Amino acid sequence: MPPRRDDCLFCKLYREGDHIASTKGFVAIKDINPQAPVHLLVIPEHHVGTFREVAELGAGETHRMLEFIADTARDCGLEDYKVQVNVGKTAGQTVFHLHWHIMGRKHAHDAPHPGGTEVTEL
Ligand code: AMP
Ligand code: ZN
Repeated sequence: MPPRRDDCLFCKLYREGDHIASTKGFVAIKDINPQAPVHLLVIPEHHVGTFREVAELGAGETHRMLEFIADTARDCGLEDYKVQVNVGKTAGQTVFHLHWHIMGRKHAHDAPHPGGTEVTEL
């Protein structure tokens, strides 16, 4: 059983969240405060505080995590997109459970997005 923290929001969302995609050990959810028309978060089951400690996942799990990020983006209709990890407080990290932001727009005709709350259907 991978380590989890009872006081961690993303450990909780891994178990109980509204998952738009999942595979063994990983889920994807919609970001509650989207910064792009499509803004997803990929969360591992294993509680790792920051990307600095990514080695705690092990090589196989890390490989599967990267594949899941790419699969989720593709399955959600994204072709071009950004993948971002904020590492540490001064880099903008606010939830200390490793997670990957996937940000993009689904349709070529979507207007450029300055960073509000517009979300396309998923
Ligand atoms: P970071 O700032 O890199 O740690 O990213 C944390 C992200 O989690 C932010 O983009 C938040 O909008 C998002 N977030 C916080 N609470 C929730 C929640 N309950 N459900 C979905 N996303 C959340
Ligand atoms: Zn956690």
